[in-house]
Amino acid sequence: MSQERPPVVVNGTRYRWPDRPVAVVIIDGGDPAYLQQFLAEGALPHIARFMQEGFAVVAEGTVPSFTCPNNMSIVTGTPASRHGISGNFYLDTATGEAVVMTGPELLRGDTVLKGFADAGAKVVAITAKDKLRKQLGKGLDVSRGNVCFSSEKAGETTLAEHGIDNALAFVGQPQPGMYSMELSLFVLDAGIRLLEAGHRDLLFLSLTDYVQHKYAPHEAEARRFYQELDRRFGRLAELGATVVLTADHGMNDKSNEAGEPNVIWLQDILDARFGKGDTRVICPITDAFVAHHGALGGFVRVWCRGKATPAQVIEAIRGLPGLESVLDKEAACRLFDLPADREGDVVVISTSNVCVGASEKDHDLSGLKGHRLRTHGGTTEAKVPLIISRPLNGDYKVRGGAGVLKSWQLFDFALNGVAR
Ligand SMILES: [Zn+2]
Repeated sequence: MSQERPPVVVNGTRYRWPDRPVAVVIIDGGDPAYLQQFLAEGALPHIARFMQEGFAVVAEGTVPSFTCPNNMSIVTGTPASRHGISGNFYLDTATGEAVVMTGPELLRGDTVLKGFADAGAKVVAITAKDKLRKQLGKGLDVSRGNVCFSSEKAGETTLAEHGIDNALAFVGQPQPGMYSMELSLFVLDAGIRLLEAGHRDLLFLSLTDYVQHKYAPHEAEARRFYQELDRRFGRLAELGATVVLTADHGMNDKSNEAGEPNVIWLQDILDARFGKGDTRVICPITDAFVAHHGALGGFVRVWCRGKATPAQVIEAIRGLPGLESVLDKEAACRLFDLPADREGDVVVISTSNVCVGASEKDHDLSGLKGHRLRTHGGTTEAKVPLIISRPLNGDYKVRGGAGVLKSWQLFDFALNGVAR
C-alpha cells in the first residue's frame, strides 16, 4: 500500500488507500447505552483509549434500524434509497408474497470491499449470520486471496466459495452455537488470525445481537461480552490496524412491568377495522433467528391490498398509544431516505418501549420465555456509536463535529478522514 495509488471510486465516492490495515467492526445491537455503562465502569480500556486518542461520536444509523439495511448502508457508503435494502422482507405486490431481501441481486451498487478488492487490495468480510454473507460478499472475487464467510457456517467453508478452506480449523476453535456470544467472538478471532497471517488491507467484521437482545447494559453477561470484545479490539490495534467501531442499530427494552412484551398487534387491529385480507402487515425484522425477538420490532410496513386506502389506514391507527409515527410512503421515503419501490403504503413506527407485530397468532414468543423483550427497528434504536482509533485530519474533524454523522459515511471517515 502506498499513498501514490489512485483513489478507489465506489458509488461515486472517492476513497484513499489506507496506510495500514483497517478493521471495521459492526457491533450488532451495540446501543450507545452499553458503552456508556461499561466505559463509566472502566471496563473497556481499549475502547476508552480509541475514544481519547482518535475520534468518537454518536452517529445516526439507517431507519428502519435493522441489521441488513445498516450493514448494506455502511458497506456501500450510501443510504438505503440507493442500495435498495430496507429490511429483511418486503412485499412483492405482483405476487402478494413476502420476499426475503438478503439476496445479493437485490443490492444496488457495489460494496467498498469489492471496489478495493478489484483494485488489488486484500479484503476480508466475516459475518456472524450467514444471511448477511452473500450481500457483503457481492462481487468479491475470492479466487484472489479475498475471504468472505460466516461464523454460523465456519465449518463448511471452501476455498472456491469463501476464499478459505475450513475456517473452523484455521481459527482453531469449535463451532460456536447459533445463540451464543461465541458466534460473535469467533468473527473477531477469525479476523485477528487473518490479520496475523498478513497482507489484509480491509477487514469488515459484523457480529450478532444475541447478547444485546437478551441482556440490558446493567447485566453481568453484557459486561462480560463487552470485555471480551474490548480485549479483541485491543489485539486488532496491537497488530497495527486502524480500528473502526460502530453498530448497525441500538436496542431498547419493550416490556411492561410484569415482564410481558408491549406489543401492538397491528394486523389484528386492521383486520377488525377493514376485514381480513384487505391490508397486509410485513414485519421487516423477521429472519431465521427469531427466538430472541419473536419477529417483533419497532418498524412495520402496511400494504393496502383491497378497499382500504393508505389515508384510511393512517386515519385508523394514528394516535394509538405506543406509536411514534404513522407515515405514508412518500413521507417515509423522504424522511428516512428509503427506496420507494420496496416501501409499503404505510409505515408504522413505535415508541422506545413498545413494539409492533402483525397478527398475534403468527408470532412465536416461546423463545422469549423468562426474558424481557429487547428489540429494535424504530428511530429510538437508530443512534449508534462511531469510533475510530486514530485522530482525524482537520477537514474531517470539522465535518465530524459540525453535525450529525450518518453511519453510512463510515468508510469515508475511516479512509479519507484519518490523519497521516
Ligand atoms: Zn442487528
